[in-house]
Amino acid sequence: MPQVTNLADKIEKRLPGELVGFIKQAGKVAAGREEAIYLVGGAVRDLLLDKTNLDIDLAVEGDAIALAGELIKDKDGKITIHRQFSTAKISWHKWRIDIATARRESYSRPGALPTVKPGSLKDDLFRRDFTINAMAVAFNPQVYGHLIDPYSGQKDLRQGLIRVFHEKSFIDDSTRIWRGLRYEQRLDFQLEAATLSLLKRGIAMLDTISGDRIRYELECILQEELPEKVFRRAGELGVLKRLNPSLDDDGWLAKKYSDARQVSLPHKPPPDLYMALLTYHLADKEREQFISYLRLPKSITQTLRDSGSIRAKLKELTDAKTKPSSIYHLLYRYSPQAITTGIIAGDSPIACRNIKLYLDKLRFAKPLLSGNDLIEMGIPPGPQIKEILNKLLDAKLDGRAKTREDEEGMVGEWRKG
Ligand code: ATP
Repeated sequence: MPQVTNLADKIEKRLPGELVGFIKQAGKVAAGREEAIYLVGGAVRDLLLDKTNLDIDLAVEGDAIALAGELIKDKDGKITIHRQFSTAKISWHKWRIDIATARRESYSRPGALPTVKPGSLKDDLFRRDFTINAMAVAFNPQVYGHLIDPYSGQKDLRQGLIRVFHEKSFIDDSTRIWRGLRYEQRLDFQLEAATLSLLKRGIAMLDTISGDRIRYELECILQEELPEKVFRRAGELGVLKRLNPSLDDDGWLAKKYSDARQVSLPHKPPPDLYMALLTYHLADKEREQFISYLRLPKSITQTLRDSGSIRAKLKELTDAKTKPSSIYHLLYRYSPQAITTGIIAGDSPIACRNIKLYLDKLRFAKPLLSGNDLIEMGIPPGPQIKEILNKLLDAKLDGRAKTREDEEGMVGEWRKG
């Protein structure tokens, strides 16, 4: 990767015309206000890597909220303002742009959210996690496209290194541990030697971070192309154990995540499927600790619990003689996502076949006779109707009743008996 000092060509190549028009306009408006506006963060890193990233974060030396207000004025769009953070989000058409006043941050104690004060662009870049994420591109007309790289981010990018700024970085905010592993694995980079030893020293500090913030980092990991690489590395370094002491990664997850991707095509696996596989071997109590620590949303919690329940039934599901009606009763309460987890995680071909049979066929089965048909046949309305329908369903699942006549004959027999 050659040394670059101006990114105007890369912007032209990587960003859609409408966005290029917007940022040029933003530069002009900022200059008119005697302010300066910059592209910052991951989008700069990705421009240098020749990757498309439409996650646009802008930093302003000046009043970001007022500037954002001017930029959205002539657009049919929306602005959301967070005055206490001096940030604004503007959105129009399909674009979303974050604009923040450049700031300085300090930490009152490890794991706390930072105290924020307005600062220069250089301050704003220094507060960031890694040098590769701490570059900016100027948009004001006189300097348009100029790369600002006070911490040698481009050099680290070229050498494939993830580097923090100072010794306390992982202590101030140990979510950076997860972030570091995510970038290292996504980009096939390496944690620079001193950063790696600081990271190892900071692992215990993960306990100072709220479950909500850790959950956010996990959600980001699950959006990656290959999340298992991050978990593998986290397992190797002892980071995974901070999520739950029983979590380990011995390579099992890699195979299962790859299967999850196959099963989910053409989409990405949903986060609850990935999460259920990650926690598949936890005991009930450990799973509950994991759920409450991360304050997982209801839908994910349900999939995790259901997956645990299905795992507890594997013995019966592994028996080739288990009848289809029994498979149905073993599984009908659980969400399709948990059942998919069971198929992927189950290492027994018979259990997989049984679970798949449920998912593809059994769960859709219904008796041919309805409640009304039974009443017409003279069965008094009441709980008996439900009982008979259940017995008819079992007969259908097990192949004992194939036609309406079969079902009528059975009902006749039961009434006699
Ligand atoms: P991705 O490519 O995964 O979207 P990104 O680099 O755009 O990553 P975001 O999470 O959107 O990352 O954050 C935007 C920028 O904010 C980062 O590039 C980084 O400079 C900074 N940042 C985010 N989280 C932290 C943190 N915990 N500590 C310091 N800087 C952070």
